[in-house]
Amino acid sequence: MVAAGLGFDAALAESTKVKQKLRIAGAKELHSVCPYCAVGCSLVAYTRQNSNGTVELLQIEGDPDSPVNEGRLCPKGATAMQLAVSPRRVESPQYRAPGARGWKSVSWDFVLDKIAQNVKASRDATFVTTDGNGNTVNRTEGIAFAGGAAFSSEEGYFEDRPCRPPVHPDVGCRRHVPAHPDRK
Ligand code: SF4
Repeated sequence: MVAAGLGFDAALAESTKVKQKLRIAGAKELHSVCPYCAVGCSLVAYTRQNSNGTVELLQIEGDPDSPVNEGRLCPKGATAMQLAVSPRRVESPQYRAPGARGWKSVSWDFVLDKIAQNVKASRDATFVTTDGNGNTVNRTEGIAFAGGAAFSSEEGYFEDRPCRPPVHPDVGCRRHVPAHPDRK
């Protein structure tokens, strides 16, 4: 029974290998790095130029020659291809107006203007120059930024730049840090 099971598994693995080989046969091999975390696992992306001139992404997988990950990827990194090809990918900024029930797609010009206006309004409304002990702080206390493990490195960078205090005392915002008894 065990031997039969192993035989079936081996045949299945072999057929999968053959199928993948056919799918990426003749493809251009490009080396990259997983965008998700600081482990920096290496990736291989396979692309093919179609007859109409477009470049099709066929497959992304772990780079077996990498000393970092030796071909392996964690479940998150293994989804890297979906960043590029998922039909559920959101491709434009989404905006929900005050009181609106749904989101709508808007232009980058609209959303960048909106962010700038709201940051300025929040900053003006919540800027404090000193804390409760009289220390000079010059900070905005009314802006927060929510991130998560689904962020790519680029999104993490975007979150970090405007919110790492102090970029400049006038524009820096305060990170939310959980209260801790040792934290003064
Ligand atoms: S594959 Fe996983 S562990 Fe490796 S860099 Fe990407 S997210 Fe990090």
